[in-house]
Amino acid sequence: MTFYACNKDAVSSGSIVSNGAVSITSIVQSKFLSAVTISTSGSGSSSSITLKSNGLPNHKTPYWGSGNALYEPFPTGHAPNVNTDMTAQTYAMTIPTNPAEASSKEATSLGEIGMALNGVPLFNDREGGNVSLDAMTLTTFDYSGAHPAPRKNYHYHTTGRYTSVDDAKLIGFLRDGFPIYGRKDTTGVYPTLDAYGGHFGPTQDFQTGIYHYHSSNVNYLNTGYYILKAGSYYGTKGTFTN
Ligand SMILES: [Zn+2]
Ligand SMILES: [Zn+2]
Repeated sequence: MTFYACNKDAVSSGSIVSNGAVSITSIVQSKFLSAVTISTSGSGSSSSITLKSNGLPNHKTPYWGSGNALYEPFPTGHAPNVNTDMTAQTYAMTIPTNPAEASSKEATSLGEIGMALNGVPLFNDREGGNVSLDAMTLTTFDYSGAHPAPRKNYHYHTTGRYTSVDDAKLIGFLRDGFPIYGRKDTTGVYPTLDAYGGHFGPTQDFQTGIYHYHSSNVNYLNTGYYILKAGSYYGTKGTFTN
């Protein structure tokens, strides 16, 4: 507690403010849905949490296929590309219980960079070939800013109906163990973010403050979709197997 009593000074002086003092374990255990299996290992600062899921969404999307109870049509003008359906995966994401800033920041890459509270993986702003998402690709998104990749692995690139729409909702956790929220802070303002798309401060889940990411507040290609996370991790990334 002593550390956090002076966190504002730490922020203003540019010091490292998320040095592993905050544990995410209880929030992870209470916020992830039952579709995600949670286990912990190790003790102290070297502890880790493993989250396992099948990656299938608990909400409506056209990718369930017509006839399914969770089927809904695409947004107007949208349609699937070659990846027309999704199947269950075998995901395991292992993250530190006490995330800390990395001394050397690593870029996020194509593929899974985190997990939403329902077990669906989060992707960055890249697509096959490691190129930025283009307008054509965005027309394959459902209302949740998601679509399947060639492995039939459904994933979120942007905010949307399920994760967050212009609010301060907890979306999930990235592979470095830091949480990611919607575009707003709990105070209702759009925060000023650092080069990694985050900042230090209180959230509804971590009242004394933690480093956390926010979704981008840029209307991507003027499509109404907002990228969840681009660029580098703030902390040291854990593993994500599939
Ligand atoms: Zn994608
Ligand atoms: Zn914030």
